[in-house]
Amino acid sequence: MSKQHIFKKKLLSWSIKNTREYSWRNSEDPWKILLLEVISQQTQLDRANKYYQKFIRKFPSPNEMSKATKKEILGMWSGLGYNSRAIRLHEASKILSKNSFDSIYPEFDILPGVGEYTKNAILSFAYNDKVITQDTNVLRVFSRFFGTKDPKKFIIENQKNILKNIKSRKFNEVLMDFGSEICTSKSPSCNICIFDNECKKFIQVKKSTQTTFKGSDREIRGKIIKHLIVNKNVDISSLNMIIETEENRLEHILEKLESEGMVTIKNKKLIEISS
Ligand code: SF4
Repeated sequence: MSKQHIFKKKLLSWSIKNTREYSWRNSEDPWKILLLEVISQQTQLDRANKYYQKFIRKFPSPNEMSKATKKEILGMWSGLGYNSRAIRLHEASKILSKNSFDSIYPEFDILPGVGEYTKNAILSFAYNDKVITQDTNVLRVFSRFFGTKDPKKFIIENQKNILKNIKSRKFNEVLMDFGSEICTSKSPSCNICIFDNECKKFIQVKKSTQTTFKGSDREIRGKIIKHLIVNKNVDISSLNMIIETEENRLEHILEKLESEGMVTIKNKKLIEISS
């Protein structure tokens, strides 16, 4: 099974129990998608959802918003911050009240405030085009899993293949949820992740942890205790041959183990686990 296939298959199985439910996720209305995407920029999704509900009730189509005043829009936007987003959304609604989404498809980035990400979100969620939405969560997951330094380029080159036989919308939602819940920016939950050795980042972290452990005092202590569990009254000089480290270092480690009450040293010669 190819790496891309494993990536897709495991994420889709993960989504069965972990997809977050929001009303817009069942909608193919490009206006609803645009509204949500603009509101949710730099805003946590649950909080964005509250504003989205308020806006969509008042402005179910671009036409209603285009007739509203700037003051009215800013009043409703209050608390979300980045007021310029509200102004651009208002301007976009005026354009869309005269030109339908279908008439400007796929060039949604001609609308004020619509960049590459929002354009792809509309293409995927409303038109089911084979595109992967490149928000920060998604880019991070790609970069870590595939070990690529240029996830944007990687996505453009591979999205058609990855999205073969699946709805792009479904996969984009899964990627966003996975990136914000498991493969998070600061502390990814690799220990409970559906991927382990398939993920490039996971392999790197495991390797560096192993390298740090190899030859460390911690490793030597572990070896000594393991040996003493099955052998009683071990001659310290024989430990040298088993542990293979400098005499001084071994002496120091044994003293430490003794001071911690882990082992007992008799006449500076024999050692065993403390009773
Ligand atoms: S193993 Fe860790 S780094 Fe890799 S995808 Fe999972 S959470 Fe992200």
